[in-house]
Amino acid sequence: MMRIVLLGPPGSGKGTQASALQQRRAIPHIASGDLLRAHIADNTDLGRRARPFMDRGDLVPDDLILDMMAARLVEPDAQNGYTLDGFPRTVAQARDLDQRLQALGHRLDAVIYLRVPEDELLRRLSGRRICPNCNAIYHVDTMPPNQKDICDHCGSALIQRQDERPEVVRNRLQVYAEQTEPLLEYYQSRRLLHEIDGTIGVDRVLAEVAEAVGRASQQVAGEHRT
Ligand code: ADP
Ligand code: ZN
Repeated sequence: MMRIVLLGPPGSGKGTQASALQQRRAIPHIASGDLLRAHIADNTDLGRRARPFMDRGDLVPDDLILDMMAARLVEPDAQNGYTLDGFPRTVAQARDLDQRLQALGHRLDAVIYLRVPEDELLRRLSGRRICPNCNAIYHVDTMPPNQKDICDHCGSALIQRQDERPEVVRNRLQVYAEQTEPLLEYYQSRRLLHEIDGTIGVDRVLAEVAEAVGRASQQVAGEHRT
């Protein structure tokens, strides 16, 4: 049983790592951004309130996020651990999570920080193109379609997600630096932080994440024995 937080800037590869952990460790991948996008797709009250913030690349206000995550974390599949991706994203969110866990006699086992330099993040995020028809994903440099801006699978014109336009991407990175980066110190001081270079290739990052999680779970087991 492991409770893991993935920390890192937008575009650092948290989603890829969390879904790999989900398969290896059989603990659910809980992504705040995915939950929010599902609310938008379902046109819920939360979705309607969150959308303008997301489109600008700003954070959705803490109170909305905290209610949404609290509801998610009491679901049955989250009782044996989870990997959180995109939450917490502010110190206030981290404190709230700590308090909730403490009230249940639980705690986090590891915080994995994927470090990627800003120019690489800009390149990754701004180059992404998606097919609005079949959801295929491309990248202008690393995974271009055969014909510029046309989907290989269905011939539709590719689009750029609203929050991946360059000006919005720059805002997301700035918001990250201002509001989320302080969490590195927060978790460092609690001796939970494991830092991994996010530029060494998906498979090698995966191996390092698995190693860090393994180390953390041994440490937890050791503490239980003493
Ligand atoms: P990324 O990590 O690449 O920025 P996400 O899918 O995690 O993408 O998040 C998309 C958007 O959803 C964010 O830009 C923000 O507006 C909103 N969001 C997601 N998680 C949170 C959170 N914990 N607190 C506030 N806003 C959030
Ligand atoms: Zn397509």
